[in-house]
Amino acid sequence: MMAERLQLIVMGPPGSGKGTQSVALATDIGAMHISTGDLFRYHERSATPLGDQIQGFIKKGDLVPDDITIAMLKDKIESLPDSVGYILDGFPRTLNQAISFDKMLIAGNARLNLVICIDVPEKQLENRLLGRIVCMECSLVYGSHVDDEYSEYCKSCEGKLHKRVDDSDKEVIGHRL
Ligand code: AMP
Repeated sequence: MMAERLQLIVMGPPGSGKGTQSVALATDIGAMHISTGDLFRYHERSATPLGDQIQGFIKKGDLVPDDITIAMLKDKIESLPDSVGYILDGFPRTLNQAISFDKMLIAGNARLNLVICIDVPEKQLENRLLGRIVCMECSLVYGSHVDDEYSEYCKSCEGKLHKRVDDSDKEVIGHRL
């Protein structure tokens, strides 16, 4: 019998660990991890037309407009083979996005299996965001205590580690939260 294709959402504020948990879960259940934040950062880095459009929003900690976000997510989901389930990380973030996602599920005759919400006290979130360093390639998150041996490169994929521009400023962090 074929295993059911799973569709999950992991929600939580910035710094709650939803990326880390989604990746671990996706590996466990053989699903695709889809992070809208990672997709946007990929477009920024690659200087695609979409990347140019969204740069200002991310830097200021604003949400990218719904029409851009929904179109990007829809393209991503439609590019997956029918058999591959996915875990959404960072989407939906607005009511419009949730409604559009519902319509996508209905159109694809699919259903949402589970939503996981991660809750972390706000003060802890700010400290985590200020202290974290991430891999530019695989988005693996490190605390500020990255050991010397791996201070520049990711121990998982050897990508370059960096400080996200939106994790560098307390005001921007407060706005995102
Ligand atoms: P994240 O990596 O989830 O913290 O997202 C980083 C940034 O990408 C956010 O602060 C927003 O600017 C943008 N972003 C990510 N997901 C969404 C979304 N679902 N809707 C609008 N903007 C988003």
